[in-house]
Amino acid sequence: MKSINPSNLEVIQEFDEMSESQVDQIIDQVHHTWQSWKLTSFDHRAKLLIQLAAALRKNKDRYAKTITAEMGKVLSESEAEIEKCAVTCEYYAENGEKFLATEHISTEASVSRVAYEPLGIVLGIMPWNFPFWQAFRYIIPSMMAGNTCLLKHASNVSQCALDIEEVMLEAGFPVDSFRTLLIPGKKMDRVIENPKVAAVTLTGSTEAGRAVASKAGEQLKKTVLELGGSDPYVILEDADLDLAVSTCLKSRLINNGQSCIAAKRFIVVESIYEDFKRTFMEAMKQKTYGDPLSEVDLGPMASTALRDELHEQVLSSINEGAYCLLGGKIPKEKGAFYPPTILVNLHPGMPAFDEELFGPVASIISAKDEEEAIDLANQSCFGLGAAIFTRDVKRGEAIAQTKLQAGSCFVNELVHSDPRLPFGGIKDSGYGRELGSFGIKEFVNTKTVFVK
Ligand code: NDP
Repeated sequence: MKSINPSNLEVIQEFDEMSESQVDQIIDQVHHTWQSWKLTSFDHRAKLLIQLAAALRKNKDRYAKTITAEMGKVLSESEAEIEKCAVTCEYYAENGEKFLATEHISTEASVSRVAYEPLGIVLGIMPWNFPFWQAFRYIIPSMMAGNTCLLKHASNVSQCALDIEEVMLEAGFPVDSFRTLLIPGKKMDRVIENPKVAAVTLTGSTEAGRAVASKAGEQLKKTVLELGGSDPYVILEDADLDLAVSTCLKSRLINNGQSCIAAKRFIVVESIYEDFKRTFMEAMKQKTYGDPLSEVDLGPMASTALRDELHEQVLSSINEGAYCLLGGKIPKEKGAFYPPTILVNLHPGMPAFDEELFGPVASIISAKDEEEAIDLANQSCFGLGAAIFTRDVKRGEAIAQTKLQAGSCFVNELVHSDPRLPFGGIKDSGYGRELGSFGIKEFVNTKTVFVK
């Protein structure tokens, strides 16, 4: 398994794929450790999470450089990613016990209550786009709830996967309470089938989600799926244009455009469309790309294969009548670079409208009025995030709450994850929730206790 630096396409490191017997042995060990880990107190687990936050911060520079080397995001974003993991450790250290406190419910019984028990091994199948954050987002609450964890990371970020194993040990988590498996996605069926694996959480493409959910469903194992998105940002005629443009731009370009909750379709009401398009293009033109260790806005995409796939989506959209206002050409430089790109003249049926464009490509779509804008926003197989821009906050709030079909709807702000709030989607964006009190309850047995 190879890690290739997408900035210069050089092989950083090669890793031996684990054999079936190595994988089985690791699963046995992690299951064995669970027998004692599930009996530990919340206080003990919280203390380890605080130590984990400290260890992440201590190693931040090194981990951030590994993230940037393996998948290409600019270094400041890699550093911010490590910090977000540390903050989430502290959040669950403080709140985890409260979220899982036993609940007493009045019935005719002398005792009737609900207790939350850990399930066992939670297997995470994770993507490369936020190599630390995506993994810690399930590891932290799962471990706090008393589960142990296995991580199968994307094949291009194996060093990040091993660094996560390292930092868990450095923080004091027991040996074999968390382990990384170095095997490719196509060999995961055997792992999901293993009776010692209790549940699976996957973040990645809808295709991978379907494959994993089918296998886990066959085994009757609980899954949480956080899949792709084509988040619509609706800009109404009374929007604060500067705020809308700067927020939309930031959301589209964060992580070199490779975020499930990046803004992907900008649906702009006709009366403000030309102004939005012009201002957005002026701002997008200023964005620079290059070596992610230097002072640039964008690094390369995570691989040339992903970049070429994105370019195909752009070209097919143009073939079908879209107009490319900016970018849209593969640069000559070595590396998986793709320039900031803007497509207009878009309608449903085109890849840039229907599919997830996982890179720095903005699709700007015109709508007659609010009603048509909402209708276009909801014309998607995805339903992860959505945002609305209007100076009338009440109007925005009502649209967010009752009209947009998505797991998270934000008003005058970019959609982002926050450890305090549930995160997840509907439709082809998946099911289940991560983070907040909802996330920690996904991988527990909600047990009813009744005493006559
Ligand atoms: P994938 O969904 O293929 O990979 C995500 C994870 O799933 C990786 O660990 C991968 O392992 C694993 N995987 C893939 N197929 C299977 C399978 N059949 N069974 C078990 N595990 C599997 O993402 P890609 O990297 O190929 O990216 C493709 C597209 O997916 C992107 O362009 C984007 O649209 C979307 N995506 C969305 C993400 C999100 O945050 N929601 C994150 C990443 C991608 P391995 O690497 O070994 O194949």
